[in-house]
Amino acid sequence: MQTPDIHDLLKTRFGYDEFRPLQAEIIRTVLAGRDALVLMPTGGGKSLCYQLPALCLDGLTLVVSPLIALMKDQVDALRANGVAAAFVNSTVPPGEAREILADARAGRVKILYIAPERLAVPGFRDFLGSVDLSQIAIDEAHCISEWGHDFRPDYRNLHVLRQRFPETPVMALTATATTQVRDDIVGQLAIPRARQFVASFDRQNLTYHVRIKRGAFEALLDLLRRHADGSAIVYCLSRQNAEDLAADLTDEGIRALPYHAGLDPAVRRTTQEQFIRDEVTVVTATIAFGMGIDKPDVRLIVHYNLPKTLEGYYQETGRAGRDGLPSTCVLFYGASDRHALTGFIEQIQDETERARARHKLQRMVNYSQLQTCRRAYLLDYFGEAYDQASCGGCDICLGEREEFDATEIAQKILSAVIRTGERFGADHVIQVLRGGRGRRLREAGHDRLSVHGIARDQGRIELHDIVSLLEDAGLVGRSADRYRSLAVTPNGRDFLRRREPLTLSRVKPPEDDASQPPPGLDRLDFDRGLFDHLRDLRWRLAQARNVPPYVIFGDQSLQEMAHYLPQSRASFSNISGVGRVKLNEFADEFLRVIRDYAEPRGLAERPKTPARTRPDRAIRRRGSTYRQTLDLLHSGLSISEVSRRRELTEGTIMSHLERLIAAGETLPLERELPPPERLSRIEQAFADAGSWNLAPVRERLGDDFSYEELRLVRAWLDQQGRMKGEGADGNARQPPA
Ligand code: ADP
Ligand code: ZN
Repeated sequence: MQTPDIHDLLKTRFGYDEFRPLQAEIIRTVLAGRDALVLMPTGGGKSLCYQLPALCLDGLTLVVSPLIALMKDQVDALRANGVAAAFVNSTVPPGEAREILADARAGRVKILYIAPERLAVPGFRDFLGSVDLSQIAIDEAHCISEWGHDFRPDYRNLHVLRQRFPETPVMALTATATTQVRDDIVGQLAIPRARQFVASFDRQNLTYHVRIKRGAFEALLDLLRRHADGSAIVYCLSRQNAEDLAADLTDEGIRALPYHAGLDPAVRRTTQEQFIRDEVTVVTATIAFGMGIDKPDVRLIVHYNLPKTLEGYYQETGRAGRDGLPSTCVLFYGASDRHALTGFIEQIQDETERARARHKLQRMVNYSQLQTCRRAYLLDYFGEAYDQASCGGCDICLGEREEFDATEIAQKILSAVIRTGERFGADHVIQVLRGGRGRRLREAGHDRLSVHGIARDQGRIELHDIVSLLEDAGLVGRSADRYRSLAVTPNGRDFLRRREPLTLSRVKPPEDDASQPPPGLDRLDFDRGLFDHLRDLRWRLAQARNVPPYVIFGDQSLQEMAHYLPQSRASFSNISGVGRVKLNEFADEFLRVIRDYAEPRGLAERPKTPARTRPDRAIRRRGSTYRQTLDLLHSGLSISEVSRRRELTEGTIMSHLERLIAAGETLPLERELPPPERLSRIEQAFADAGSWNLAPVRERLGDDFSYEELRLVRAWLDQQGRMKGEGADGNARQPPA
């Protein structure tokens, strides 16, 4: 077998420019015939790790997956890229299944998806006896482990595959990463020598927000309206909540469907289908929703009720933004939800179970009350260190820190802790401060204390926040047992005695939780209007083919189209997601929509350099031609000096500059610019021409101006525009007005 260029395959077959982290290494490992264990978060791009090698290998790739509902979508997506894929599961009639297996045996299928139950079917065992298997992929591999949250007894049959095909590389994939589960997978599948790949569980494109649950329905409406152009899932605590919320939203003009385990399977299936096909954009759901869907473009996940555990929370929020585009996660935190959950937990019979559930809920509550980076807390919970000071992608890091004088309130809180005997948790102490008259409080005689009701004017949540701040400041501590009783530390006593002033800082969350990707993440300034037209077209094509819209093109591809405005098949093929098959199938229709939109508005194409020569990759390579030019320019040489030194034409150096700028470098171009009046004439000419193309601008200006000069000014304007964030209004490529 000759070694295929996996980068070429990535572009020609899948349409993508670059591998995501670890993908290339994993693919090389299988191609070298080795077993692999792949741990990646949802959206990390696991499927490609076996799909791409499948195209390089001679025989069949068998994919075992428990998620029957997903198989069809995965297969549709592969077929849209011209990959011969098929599935057999319980939804496929026996006759048809036999035909598919015959096709697979004859080499007419490259990737075959099966459910684990299939391994126990005698006919399927016969099939295995006669087929050339070159790769075995086990998706959702944690299902093999009883330690996992989703044990499937059928997964224990998988060792059959190992015995039958001892030489065939096995790839096990999962998004569940505890070491226990990991060891179990390796042991159960008998792949002790598997190379292990562990990706970061940091979902960089997700922004995390927590909101105090007050006027929550209004806030939810507002949130959904602002995210109206993308899909959203709203997670609720109970079936009834999900039903009621869907009805209330619909009353307000936001069409939402409920989804929970109590609904008729047929209803659930249609809801799922409608959601995947963008026929309904909001689903209110219990946690039951999401397992069976793989929609890459969910833009907003709302937790309307507090989840029970951070594991659950991470998994549910993980369903946002699988395609890597910025997406938002908002959690509404309210003490009543917390009490409801505590109530459930106290009903758990088994003592250890109950203690564990309590502990997990406490971590969830801590997360909701953080005054420090939420991403760092989440990652720490999963055992991953996050060493950046600010993630730039959570409400804490995005919010403004505000200082406030906490002297008086701190004195009140500390006094109340002392007066109640340092035996009570924050809830109780806060009730006392706010003048509560609950039974427990009265029985303890705390309604007669001098501190009773001295902080009536403060909200409960604010007081909780301040207690946490006092804890951070080392003035109070909490007991390690489950009562989490507050006690005043020696520092706290000093503070009370000396009557010192105290300033604390808390975070004022950002007003807007619109998806803001953390810095460093690509975000295109694409044309919204065109994007909507392209979405319409995508939707129509998907309907006609009876597939979900994302199978035609993902949002990333549409955004690129609405940014680069490709006008030819050649430039269309540079768009991410456009492989050979989709180029042939869809280029004409999309190009027509782009042209019809761009022409009357005078929008010109914006060049996108083909992936293989993309400077951002090339620049990183030390000694690359771009890098040499860059270094010389930064060392103070002019363009013509660089050209002489490097023995390259000035035109070539100019093209380096353009690529460097496109890759985000900032170059010292000021010294090369023409004198001010000349510069402003050129600037004006670009604006008048309404185009970045040089010819029409030169025509306006006359022979007195050289192409080289115009080209330089264009590069400079491009750099300026980027620095000023111009084009944020959507008209990215419009020349300066
Ligand atoms: P996972 O199974 O890890 O949750 P998927 O395999 O479903 O993730 O991939 C998530 C999304 O990312 C899919 O829409 C997929 O097409 C896309 N994707 C995967 N690899 C790449 C890549 N190298 N470049 C761009 N998009 C990719
Ligand atoms: Zn943060």
